[in-house]
Amino acid sequence: MNQGHDGEDQLIKVLNMDGQQLTPCLPHRAWREVERSRAVWIDEQTIQLLYNPFLFRDYRKAALKRDHHTCLWCGQHATTVDHIIPSSKGGSDLPHNLIASCSECNTKRGNRPAWSYLKENARTVPNLMKLIWRICIANYRHRPMKKRTTE
Ligand SMILES: [Zn+2]
Repeated sequence: MNQGHDGEDQLIKVLNMDGQQLTPCLPHRAWREVERSRAVWIDEQTIQLLYNPFLFRDYRKAALKRDHHTCLWCGQHATTVDHIIPSSKGGSDLPHNLIASCSECNTKRGNRPAWSYLKENARTVPNLMKLIWRICIANYRHRPMKKRTTE
């Protein structure tokens, strides 16, 4: 065990989109944000967020309330939100792309496409029509980032 190694608990500086400093976070959190395409490294000790965390907190709350804190995958009490189109695929943080989810379903699904996860779990989904509708809406409203044309 290599405890007391300084680098381990060093906090990473977090900047918002405007470059303002937010509450620092632990390195593993910073890596997770970057892996999810939600932040980029500025230098070895600083990340800059590509979304507004305060807005996301509100959207998350709104989505949970709209879905009555009930997991749309299994009907259990939901405390987290699941991105229908994963953040890593450019999925939006707006409520139309969020569904209430228990942390178990959220973890089990990971970054898998909503349709394939739905196929596997169709038996446990309490309201299939509602979930299918939500997935359709999220896909319909999904606007992938414009690719730069080279002309
Ligand atoms: Zn669930």
